[in-house]
Amino acid sequence: MRVYKFGGASVKSAEGVKNLTRILKNQSDDLVIVISAMGKTTNALEKVVNAYLDLQNDEAISLLIESKTYHTEIIRSLFDNSNKETILTRLDEIYNITIEFINNNRRLEYDFCYDQIVSAGEIASTSIVSNYLNSIGIPNTWTDAREVIRTDSTFREANIRFDESGVRLNDALDFSKNKIYITQGFIGGNAAGETTTLGREGSDYSAAIIAALSNAESVTIWKDVPGVLNADPRIFNDTKLLSAVSYKEAAELSFYGAQIIHPKTIKPLHNKNIPLYVKSFVEPQSQGTVIEGNSVLEKQMPVFILKKNQVLISILPKDFSFALEETLGVVFNMLLKHRIKVNLIQSSAVSISVCVDDTRYVQPTIEEFMNDYDVRYNKELELLTIRNYTNDTIDKYTEGKQVYLSQKTRRTIRLLMESK
Ligand code: ASP
Ligand code: MG
Repeated sequence: MRVYKFGGASVKSAEGVKNLTRILKNQSDDLVIVISAMGKTTNALEKVVNAYLDLQNDEAISLLIESKTYHTEIIRSLFDNSNKETILTRLDEIYNITIEFINNNRRLEYDFCYDQIVSAGEIASTSIVSNYLNSIGIPNTWTDAREVIRTDSTFREANIRFDESGVRLNDALDFSKNKIYITQGFIGGNAAGETTTLGREGSDYSAAIIAALSNAESVTIWKDVPGVLNADPRIFNDTKLLSAVSYKEAAELSFYGAQIIHPKTIKPLHNKNIPLYVKSFVEPQSQGTVIEGNSVLEKQMPVFILKKNQVLISILPKDFSFALEETLGVVFNMLLKHRIKVNLIQSSAVSISVCVDDTRYVQPTIEEFMNDYDVRYNKELELLTIRNYTNDTIDKYTEGKQVYLSQKTRRTIRLLMESK
């Protein structure tokens, strides 16, 4: 059995969905197919959440209808008349449940509401693709990840209950009956039956969890790039394909911010030694990248990873009474409490500096630090990591820019700079 994962970009249009069927036609394995929300649906539904929590229910519902219309149009160009009604009715159902939630819910916690609303994107995309495949003679079973992937109740970043999910998954999958199962990435459910999500771009992680729990032969992530590249082609020129990457290197690259795979994806695969292929859905025959245990990254090739929207926060005890261990403990507990991820740390005689993503939680955290510490911070920075750097590459990317902080090891340099 293999696991395939299709991201939002691969199913953003009727064309995309048709292309997915071409990939499926050329293979005969038992499959679990994990699918994200179509195109930019998750972003669109995040706007619904924000409007709703700003108490703009009318605005929330009109944004929701926009998202529904986008799906309706894809359905109209995919299905012929005899099959259209069933899926349109299903789409009504999915969106009506969300509208009902907006009208009736009384629990106004951001993270909880987010998961209940945003998950509609994955329910809609998988319902459409599953129906479409059935209608053109690729039989498959739609599986509800909210009932299979059991999590705790950390909304928006739920932790997987592996044992329970394993049992549920094995109950759900029976390849003697069905060869293809279609399920949602990114979402799960807690013991109370509420929907949870695993963090933005979490579908890769879903695919890895499902593969690990069902001892799959491999996972393939189908993307709009030829595989794992040495830099993001939207930002850098002359990118090159990395044909093989070890689990360890892949975990490092995704920690540094390479957006090719979700950072949590590697561990479950590494534990079970399951290879991960990253391939192009545009050119499915081409080789792509394999991530597995014993691959060695082409040593000399520099790899560039740019993280934008960074904040550098420096924390200084007011009386200079700096005890590193103590202050580190306090600082990290505070960051953990606000669920802020640290991308880089530096300490000096009198201060600790951390570089973090600029999320909605950063400003309140800075303000809380200000109660007890002197705090300085800079926003709108970018963090460039270069693996296998050379002096030339460093010069090229720092030229004319103010560098706020740099950290260098034998293989890696990290440069926190102003964005320009
Ligand atoms: N749809 C979700 C997102 O855009 C999950 C995913 O695509 O992996 O973040
Ligand atoms: Mg996505």
